[in-house]
Amino acid sequence: MSTAAPTLSISLHPSATPVSVERRAELLLDPGFGRVFTDHMVTAQYADGGWRDAQLRPYGPLSLEPATAVMHYAQEIFEGLKAYRQPDGGTALFRPDRNAARFRYSAQRLAMAPLPEQLFLDSVRVLVEQDRAWVPTFPEGSLYLRPFMFANEQFLGVRPALQYFYGLIASPVGAYFPRGVKPVNLWLSTDRVRAVPGGTGDAKTGGNYAASLMAQAEATEAGCDQVVFVDAVERRWVEELGGMNIFFVFDDGAGGRRLATPPLTGSLLAGITRDSLLTLAADHGHPVEERPVSVEEWRGSAADGSLVEVFACGTAAVITPIGRVRSRDGEFVIADGEAGPVTMALRQALLDIQYGKAPDKHNWMHRV
Ligand code: PMP
Repeated sequence: MSTAAPTLSISLHPSATPVSVERRAELLLDPGFGRVFTDHMVTAQYADGGWRDAQLRPYGPLSLEPATAVMHYAQEIFEGLKAYRQPDGGTALFRPDRNAARFRYSAQRLAMAPLPEQLFLDSVRVLVEQDRAWVPTFPEGSLYLRPFMFANEQFLGVRPALQYFYGLIASPVGAYFPRGVKPVNLWLSTDRVRAVPGGTGDAKTGGNYAASLMAQAEATEAGCDQVVFVDAVERRWVEELGGMNIFFVFDDGAGGRRLATPPLTGSLLAGITRDSLLTLAADHGHPVEERPVSVEEWRGSAADGSLVEVFACGTAAVITPIGRVRSRDGEFVIADGEAGPVTMALRQALLDIQYGKAPDKHNWMHRV
């Protein structure tokens, strides 16, 4: 007798009016990020204690009653992953099993019904198969996949909802740096925090992003590209950016490079790119530590030259070099403020795996 949970099959209801080949080609010329959506989506509903009604259907509006629980108490989670065009014209996903596991973790943290990981993976596969023509073929283009789930029970009492909606949509996206990789400047937010110990910082839930936006607006006002958050208690330990993890590259004093990234304390997101880079950095011969890095260490090591590179990482931008850091106490520069060699080598190594140009020795790619 099998002990595996039976998997819910996804019924297929493809669009009778997909976007024309010509219009799609036009949209794919310069899709930007998150503005263009493919012909289809996958949806499923949790009710009466189980997941049901999984279907692939035309992308389109959802109809919700005003009493829908998510609009009041914010039980909502999401994920972000990409499908990449491969040299033989096929497509592949990067570590989708990790996104499925993180989605389950986020659901549990928000007291929501977890989606079976197999259903998450099946939904991604079915949508990419159906909308494969939307996966860009230009360099560093990809199909961004956005799984999301929210409480759609109509009830105004404060308690975990009994009904949930799962959706998956897809959006072709362009290269993050279409004119070459450029370092970004960070605003170090010490007044406002994104997450607290015991809170939801390590779950991928909309509230964390809502909480980060005011600091992001301050960053923009201060002439910076992104905000970097510190811990909520001491306001001293570097955590992460609004949507990316962070790595520090130090000179080891003997001509080598050692890396450090903040540990997963519970108030930052366990990035899949972060996890992959821990492995890739070691493959490249760089010792890498998960350890707390303070703002004083960051500023001091930038000043004495032992900190040679800093970069941010995440699915959307892969790896983004960091040039300068500004705060209420002034500004400091990392080395010469330009993208460094370790940053660029790791970036290329990861892209080469994702685009099927280097051997996938860690079995990270899943063909669709
Ligand atoms: N931190 C936050 C807050 C994020 O939103 C993201 C993007 N998912 C990351 C880090 C990077 O995670 P990943 O590498 O899995 O995209």
